[in-house]
Amino acid sequence: MATGVRSSDERAARIAAVGFDPLEQPTAPVERCNLCGGAHKVRVGERDRYGYAVALSVCARCGLGFLDPRMTAEAYGAFYDGTYRPLVSAYHGRLIDAETVQQEQHGYAAEIVDWVATALPRAPASLIDIGGSTGVIAGAFARAFGLRATVLDPAPDELAVAAAAGMETIPGFAEDYDPGERRFDLVLLCQTMDHLLDVRSTLGAMRRMVADDGAAFVDVLDVGFMLRRRGRIEGAVKVDHPFYLTRATGRAFLAQAGFAVAAERMSGDGHWGFLARAAEPVEPDWAALAAGADAFLADVWARRATG
Ligand SMILES: [Zn+2]
Repeated sequence: MATGVRSSDERAARIAAVGFDPLEQPTAPVERCNLCGGAHKVRVGERDRYGYAVALSVCARCGLGFLDPRMTAEAYGAFYDGTYRPLVSAYHGRLIDAETVQQEQHGYAAEIVDWVATALPRAPASLIDIGGSTGVIAGAFARAFGLRATVLDPAPDELAVAAAAGMETIPGFAEDYDPGERRFDLVLLCQTMDHLLDVRSTLGAMRRMVADDGAAFVDVLDVGFMLRRRGRIEGAVKVDHPFYLTRATGRAFLAQAGFAVAAERMSGDGHWGFLARAAEPVEPDWAALAAGADAFLADVWARRATG
């Protein structure tokens, strides 16, 4: 396996050249589980896929995975400004920048639009994309349904691209946006949930934006899928994902926020997509989630023992 060793050495050298070290960043412990509020957490890993000293905990009560401790919101802001794309480029060994991300998003957008179009009972007349960046995905929905899309994102230079394409843009984060009386038929949170610092608050904000007969689309990377693909938990962890969800914890977050899943799908790269309609909040099945947490932890330990 000489070539494999060489390529992993080369990858480590590329990552080292990025010059980022999470140990030098301000961090804070995560005291409470963002899904169930529990404080019983199990430490399952000490490293991430980049080789950084990043620790993963799993909530024993519900199975939600999260980095703990993790960088502060300010540190993540600086990370996304200067480090994130060079780091991901170094990991994959190819340039990943605003342009290549947009190209990849076109394929993703086409797939999601097709699926959502068949799953929705009727065409939406309004749409907001949370963390919608340059508006590639919102634009694909706008063309498919003949509507004017709204993009909400904290990055002004990315919003400028969306505005130039004719979209309404709102700067900021979902939790800080006050929709007033305004409601949207479709609210999107695409490839973003794992990157959030507070999933529960963001879903709560989304629920306040959605029309009574409206729907939301969210997707999450399944940590179980990544564990099986990489063979060890360290391969599934990355500093850019504060949260690690599964089908069960994703659905529990939605139920708690007042979304009823109407359709779901798994993509080839391990993302669960959920189309959910506005509903009354429902208490998740904690016993089932605890059983799922036990099974996931057993899988992690079994792979460590053999790996
Ligand atoms: Zn929990």
